[in-house]
Amino acid sequence: MSNEIAATDLAQLNPPSVPGHATEAPKGNLGAIVNQHVDRACRAIHMPDEITAILAHPKNEIIVHFPVRMDDGSFRMFTGCRVQHNNILGPYKGGIRFHQDVTLDEVRGLASAMTWKSALHDIPFGGGKGGVQFDPTKHSLAEIERITRRFTHALAGSIGPEYDIPAPDVGTNAQVMNWLMDTYMNIVGALDKNAMRRVVTGKSIPCGGSLGREAATGQGVVHCLVEWARDRRFDLTGKTVAIQGFGNVGSFTAKILSKLGVSTVATGDYKGYIYNPEGLNPHKLAEHVKRTGSVVDYKHGRPITRDEFFAIECDILVPAALELEIGEKEAHAIKAKVIAEGANGPTYPEADAILNDRGITVIPDILANSGGVTVSYYEWLQNKRSERWEEEEVLGRLERAMKRTYAHVRDFAYERKLDFRTAAYAIGLERIQKAYADRGIWP
Ligand code: GLU
Repeated sequence: MSNEIAATDLAQLNPPSVPGHATEAPKGNLGAIVNQHVDRACRAIHMPDEITAILAHPKNEIIVHFPVRMDDGSFRMFTGCRVQHNNILGPYKGGIRFHQDVTLDEVRGLASAMTWKSALHDIPFGGGKGGVQFDPTKHSLAEIERITRRFTHALAGSIGPEYDIPAPDVGTNAQVMNWLMDTYMNIVGALDKNAMRRVVTGKSIPCGGSLGREAATGQGVVHCLVEWARDRRFDLTGKTVAIQGFGNVGSFTAKILSKLGVSTVATGDYKGYIYNPEGLNPHKLAEHVKRTGSVVDYKHGRPITRDEFFAIECDILVPAALELEIGEKEAHAIKAKVIAEGANGPTYPEADAILNDRGITVIPDILANSGGVTVSYYEWLQNKRSERWEEEEVLGRLERAMKRTYAHVRDFAYERKLDFRTAAYAIGLERIQKAYADRGIWP
């Protein structure tokens, strides 16, 4: 096999550097960092050592290499993986990421975070995550379709509607989920083909997706911010937000916050950052991003640096890009009163400590961005029951679920004198511990 088409080894890759900032230090190991959060929470609830040891490792790690025909007729090898962290509470569940910097350690951390996210919300799912290492912005739609279908084919024996259920994540969307579903149904289904539809969530509505799913993660971020503001008698009207990343999560967060009178004053992505103290129109900006692939060159915003972005005068900060963006330097610079983590794992533990000392609340990822998996669960239920729920029904359930979980985390944190992140992990861990205690460890 020639070098040009040799697949890469995910495990051998160095951690990616900060996107667009090659001079920054390489990023840390997300898998190890999530394990630090788990360890802290395990200590807080006196988790038995054997359960801590089980939870420190994923159950399964599947790495696949597969060839895909490019538009010019040549073939290229791709490498992907699916990490299945834990399924004691239900089928493995979590997104599929298409990104050039995907590594096994990253996917391990993201898969583990899904276990705690589902458990925190008492959703009967476990945790998993997958990724294919390539840059989707450098491929045609037809190539992305063939990559998705070959990846699904390679994984088909390891996923299933009652076993492991993928969903969208960074670099993937409803279209990719539709291709995944269609490929899986055609490989596995016979007379029960339609029962395979719920092998994946985040599909388009005609393919069995749920109303409210596309905006769900941003909607959940906003529910958390509303609860935070209510507890502090902080009027959100007229306040400002800075949002890192203007993809699905960032753009819906901005649009929904604007209805509450909160204006987005700064945003940015791997290509650059922009600022407008008068506020950026989230609808027009989202259209610009759709057209050009980035917020840069949006004519109603002035370019700023990444350092200026993190030091911007604002009330709320929403990291909604990739993991490990907020380190010690950023934690010292941030002026916001609250950070709602739309992204998974955006904050280093050292930064958490600084933000804590500075009295800045961090609403952790497994709480703040859990609207996505919550509505994924509703989509899966609708498919399973052959139902279609009205949008009002979906949004009402989501609001009740987010508020209930937010209150649980807040009260737990207050009673046990913990930060929100440790409290959120501890609630999820206690649910899992009870399941292990009742079932025992076989044989
Ligand atoms: N990728 C999303 C997350 O990180 C959604 C997962 C899902 O819906 O299963 O939460």
